[in-house]
Amino acid sequence: MTDEQWESICHGCGACCFEKKIDRQGNVHTTAVPCRFLDIHDRTCRMYSQRLLIEEDCIQLTPQNISKLSWLPETCAYRALQRDNIQT
Ligand code: SF4
Repeated sequence: MTDEQWESICHGCGACCFEKKIDRQGNVHTTAVPCRFLDIHDRTCRMYSQRLLIEEDCIQLTPQNISKLSWLPETCAYRALQRDNIQT
């Protein structure tokens, strides 16, 4: 899969760009606090090409790390892809 194909999987919901809290039991709770660079109206990152340089908490999603990122929303297109790959 090319980088472009990988990027095209994202449906741009922006749900991953809200702060998360993880409780003592390991449950993930998404807050209503967006990343400072998230355009709240169109749900895009205003600094997308530089995000990894300027926001230390931003993580690049890759085929290798998706399965380790338990805080990604259930609705995330990459999680759905991962679920599909496990089931096939
Ligand atoms: S939650 Fe997943 S599908 Fe939604 S914007 Fe983030 S990476 Fe894309």
